[in-house]
Amino acid sequence: MEEIVKSNSNFIHDIIDEELASGKNTRVQTRFPPEPNGYLHIGHAKAICIDFATAEKYGGECNLRLDDSNPSKEDVEYVEAIKADIEWLGYKWNNVYYASDYFDFVYECAIKLIEKGKAFVCDLTAEEMREYRGTLTEPGKNSPYRDRSVEENLDLFRRMTAGEFPDGSRVLRAKIDMASPNIVMRDPVIYRIMHVSHHQTGDKWCVYPMYDFVHPLSDARERVTYSLCTLEFENNRPLYDWFINEIGFEEPPRQIEFARLNLNYCLTSKRKCLRLVKDNIVTGWDDPRMATLCGMRRRGYPAEAVRNFVDKIGVSKANSVVDYGLLESCVRDVLNANAPRAMAVIEPLKVVIDNYPEGKTETITVEIHPDHPEMGTREVTFSREIYIEQSDFMIEPPKKYFRLYPGNEVRLKGAYFVKCESFETDENGNVTVVHCTYDEASRGGNSPDGRKVKGTLHWVCADDCVDAEIRLYDRLFNAENPSDESNGDFTGNLNPESLVVRTDCKLEGGLRDIKEGDVFQFMRQGYFCVDKDSTPDHIVLNRTVQLNSSWGK
Ligand code: ATP
Ligand code: MG
Repeated sequence: MEEIVKSNSNFIHDIIDEELASGKNTRVQTRFPPEPNGYLHIGHAKAICIDFATAEKYGGECNLRLDDSNPSKEDVEYVEAIKADIEWLGYKWNNVYYASDYFDFVYECAIKLIEKGKAFVCDLTAEEMREYRGTLTEPGKNSPYRDRSVEENLDLFRRMTAGEFPDGSRVLRAKIDMASPNIVMRDPVIYRIMHVSHHQTGDKWCVYPMYDFVHPLSDARERVTYSLCTLEFENNRPLYDWFINEIGFEEPPRQIEFARLNLNYCLTSKRKCLRLVKDNIVTGWDDPRMATLCGMRRRGYPAEAVRNFVDKIGVSKANSVVDYGLLESCVRDVLNANAPRAMAVIEPLKVVIDNYPEGKTETITVEIHPDHPEMGTREVTFSREIYIEQSDFMIEPPKKYFRLYPGNEVRLKGAYFVKCESFETDENGNVTVVHCTYDEASRGGNSPDGRKVKGTLHWVCADDCVDAEIRLYDRLFNAENPSDESNGDFTGNLNPESLVVRTDCKLEGGLRDIKEGDVFQFMRQGYFCVDKDSTPDHIVLNRTVQLNSSWGK
């Protein structure tokens, strides 16, 4: 396995260093706690790298905890996908836990709070509860049910659990402080009635604990020492600490928040990604245009590039928007170092070399990777008829066009100098064939007499090539912030040209047996990978990324 990038120090590691040095803590244990209600996206990759790399740096453990306390939105399909994505990123959890494994424990904690007089059953409707909550500037009011006796609360909570009451009729609330400036602390709900079955616990429960209650208890139960999460939980930290403190744990976990990753042009909301999938705007969660990890994997992004990217953006407390170009440059760096080189023509134009003997072929040996002689060489066939890119020929070229046009000479990469003598067109004036002559003395693409050509073209041999479909992907959204609703809803920001399919592409003959996951740098075109839709009879490639950034434009 490749070496995992070690996160440099950051403010989280500074806190840990300090606590280890002072003896406040002796262990480091973290967890990655996704809710299994969708596929992981590039934002999650940041959390995964931070959680796992932190544990690894300190020789501690990191567990995968599926935060499945909300039974209505979750699915087993997502659980398997989450595991596959973490493994793909190159991390291995010590254990897999489910928040639902702790429902008994969490229930006992609720009973304990009631017994301590720190929780009560409340009969206010949702709307009344909102009125009682107050606002940012005004304190809330105590619920009229707040002073129920411990006995009455225990009795009602047990009857809630036994299924005596309908959904929404009662909740269990922590008794904290309705005048707290932090609204989160104003007697938050900790249990609600929901007559729904759960994918792990079935019909055992009809009351379910709230995330804010389950999360700290799960952390403490697993003996997590550092509960790393994103900034939006900063306000909830006093509540987190309150639960930990009221229940009482020997090794209280500490919550530390870091900034979310926001990438421009990307949607990283599971709810909106689900919409793209459900409405068939994309072909699935792994559509190569999605910001999901499975989409990026299918697009050909190496896991190493994603890890390098997360490492580059660093860990900070300030929210910001990262430029997609940075992720692409990480992808390019990894692929440039490793991807075998080859030639492919995406929009072919036939070239006939009139003075090249009919029926003759020759084999040209070229390197697979200019920086890796150990990767060896490949053989490319040359013959009288070849294909070049349509855009590499013009009848009337503009200034500084160094490719093929009548009278101009170019180099065919690794083969010969050829000069355009004439061309044929169809009845619409479209060029169908270009006629050239070649200079036999320029074999290998070297100048025989010091004369220079400015253009070097990629090409494939018409007699020894493989047909392929190539999917050219571009950004899925035209707006830097796809969630911007000024065009109606976020679908108003879709890029209509995010996928262009070319079905008559020609690959060099040696690529006949390529299979899913193989990656290449096609000369002058970019990086490509073989898609899962590919079969031996119908090769399908995805363009992973172009050679140069297009994000600045
Ligand atoms: P979404 O809004 O897409 O549903 P979420 O935060 O609800 O995301 P979870 O499954 O609850 O998704 O997240 C699991 C972990 O990943 C949490 O610790 C969360 O803070 C972290 N995470 C989610 N999105 C990002 C992001 N954009 N950047 C960094 N961490 C993230
Ligand atoms: Mg969430």
